[in-house]
Amino acid sequence: MPLIGKASPQDYNLHPSQYPWARELYDQAIANTWYPHEISLKEDLEDWANMTEDEKHAVEFILSFFNPAELIVNRVLALGVYPYLKSAECHLYLAKQMWEEANHCVAFEYVLETLPVDREQVYQTHLELPAMQAKEAFINRTMQRMTDDRYDINTPDGQRDFIRNLVAYNIVMEGIWFYSGFMVTLSFRQRNILRNFGSMIQWVLRDESLHLKFGIQLILTLLEENPDLVTPEFASEIEALVIEGVELESNYNRALFPNGILGLNADYVNQYVQYVADRRLEELGLTPHYHATNPAKWMSTATDVFELVNFFESQNTSYEVNARAYDQSNDSGNVRDSAK
Ligand code: MN
Ligand code: FE
Repeated sequence: MPLIGKASPQDYNLHPSQYPWARELYDQAIANTWYPHEISLKEDLEDWANMTEDEKHAVEFILSFFNPAELIVNRVLALGVYPYLKSAECHLYLAKQMWEEANHCVAFEYVLETLPVDREQVYQTHLELPAMQAKEAFINRTMQRMTDDRYDINTPDGQRDFIRNLVAYNIVMEGIWFYSGFMVTLSFRQRNILRNFGSMIQWVLRDESLHLKFGIQLILTLLEENPDLVTPEFASEIEALVIEGVELESNYNRALFPNGILGLNADYVNQYVQYVADRRLEELGLTPHYHATNPAKWMSTATDVFELVNFFESQNTSYEVNARAYDQSNDSGNVRDSAK
């Protein structure tokens, strides 16, 4: 059965499995499940009182974009991706991803309810600020073709539209724009500020890294199954979409940083954006465009490490007590000796 096409009764059979990678990503996603209330923001609230106006602006700005962006991803998945995928394993994975995007939205809502911010203004910003509107318009442009009455998934052009849409919401939005926001928010934790919000972002990042793996796998599988789609023209079109996404993000970051904060400024973050964009181009089998070096080396540990080292460090004391008790039982010799 091909990966995409019109729906048929066979689409609901999980076996025989043709796309085991999608089932593996589903299992991994289930293992990564987390809930916003596991994180206490009490210390972050204390940090907030000591932050500069520019620092607060940066957090509010990023939440203004991220909160609706989570639901925009879900709309794209529901209307532009799920209906055209025929694989039952992919349907399982997308159901979990959609819950995760809802969970991210609610997690950011929890942050907005906890910090003393002007929530009305935060919700309003993405509707008014040109740099955010331009990003949303970019997503809507490729998405619109997927909901057009004349859309046909079984034509080469329909299949190219499906891939264009994947590149926009997955490679550009989830794979570049979100990483830019993660880098800025995790910079606070690097300075020992907003550490619990940082843990939350790290959980979101772990989810998004799976969303990205899924999207890339979809694109590569589609190109493998439909080699006629692979032309130099289409490759440069994909590259152009990525470059356009980088330009939109660069403008957005200039509005995000009217002045620098925490040793960051728009140029620094935009160099990271270019570095990430090059990695995405490579992951798609294209050549890097920017040849930018990573200005935030510490981000590679934040993104490459799947299991988090300091996950519970700042909030879950009972976990630490249990861990210590376990270490002591090890030191008494029983567990370690019997394992030898
Ligand atoms: Mn998300
Ligand atoms: Fe996502």
